[in-house]
Amino acid sequence: MIIGVPKEIKNNENRVALTPAGVAEMTGRGHEVYVQHNAGTGSGFSDDEYIAAGAAILDSIEEVYAIAEMIMKVKEPIKQEYSLIKKDQLVFTYFHFASSEPLTMAMIESGAVCLAYETVEKKDGSLPLLIPMSEVAGRMSVQEGAKSLEKPLKGRGVLLGGVPGVPPGKVLILGGGVVGTQAAKMAAGLGAQVTIMDISLPRLRQLADILPANVTTMMSNTYNIRTMIKDADLIIGAVLIPGAKAPLLITREMLKEMRPGTVLVDVAVDQGGCIETCTPTTHENPTFIIDDIVHYCVANMPGAVPYTSTLALTNATLPYALQLADKGWQTACRENKELEKGLNIANGKVLYKGVAEAWSLPL
Ligand code: NAD
Repeated sequence: MIIGVPKEIKNNENRVALTPAGVAEMTGRGHEVYVQHNAGTGSGFSDDEYIAAGAAILDSIEEVYAIAEMIMKVKEPIKQEYSLIKKDQLVFTYFHFASSEPLTMAMIESGAVCLAYETVEKKDGSLPLLIPMSEVAGRMSVQEGAKSLEKPLKGRGVLLGGVPGVPPGKVLILGGGVVGTQAAKMAAGLGAQVTIMDISLPRLRQLADILPANVTTMMSNTYNIRTMIKDADLIIGAVLIPGAKAPLLITREMLKEMRPGTVLVDVAVDQGGCIETCTPTTHENPTFIIDDIVHYCVANMPGAVPYTSTLALTNATLPYALQLADKGWQTACRENKELEKGLNIANGKVLYKGVAEAWSLPL
């Protein structure tokens, strides 16, 4: 198969969909790979590394779309890319169709086959192509929160790990899924006193088994949250209700019960956030202050660490991409139900229930 890897053109997107290692896998199996000039630069991969792995470099995005049978991308296509996508071309990337009607309509009209990373789903309901980005965001949340606790950034001036003779900082994590677990590991590793809350008792049991002794598990409810926010230094929002807006766990009025300089990192901000006062921010301007409380609400946290994020993402996407390239999308999806779940639109038809429902389209 002929595979095309365009350079991402969405603002501040430095990830790339295929690394030189991925190219070597593809070319080793007899596929042809065309990479746009400088597509990997933001993630630390040069054109020369791609060439050494067997790819050919093309100057323009138009050339990549024109030649490829399968396009591998990271972000959803933006307006400039709509007209480049051809009938029967397979596009494997994040799409998030339910949040963009214009993109949905453009892809229906294109006649392309749209396989969305975010809906590839395993038997147990887990989403293998979203997990790596949650892992990155979870680990980053503690790093960013620890930095924001510094006085010049208007934090409480607390060092999370403490020092001999001085107690460590207190971290409260709301949600014990992928983000919450990674955050707990990082905070515990720094030596902080960590509490992690979830509404699932089986999940809390698992967490109590796997997390170190400086992490306490606690049932998530309003009473417990109100008690714990009073002396927490860093609070991390990491909840998710699949397919729905994040539940509101910290209201504006509750900020008054926190100590000035407390830091809130709402990782769930991309789903509406679980803290009332959180609105999405960017890496250029990541924090704002309300009632002396520092809010960090960057909606695309992994974008700040493109090297790690690209490797994490491609580790997860490559095995699926190889199946698509080796067998073609129809056979690959017939044989692998996880991949089949990723089919959102093909040949002008919507194939994913959530997308059809979002825009009242026939399934
Ligand atoms: P997950 O499904 O693995 O975990 C969510 C957890 O929240 C589950 O264990 C669930 O039981 C728990 N939960 C639900 N309601 C709760 C409540 N009321 N109190 C406490 N816990 C509750 O999800 P995840 O992969 O960890 O993702 C968490 C959030 O992070 C999602 O909104 C995701 O979109 C977001 N995210 C954001 C970024 C970013 O850059 N900002 C990056 C990746 C993921």
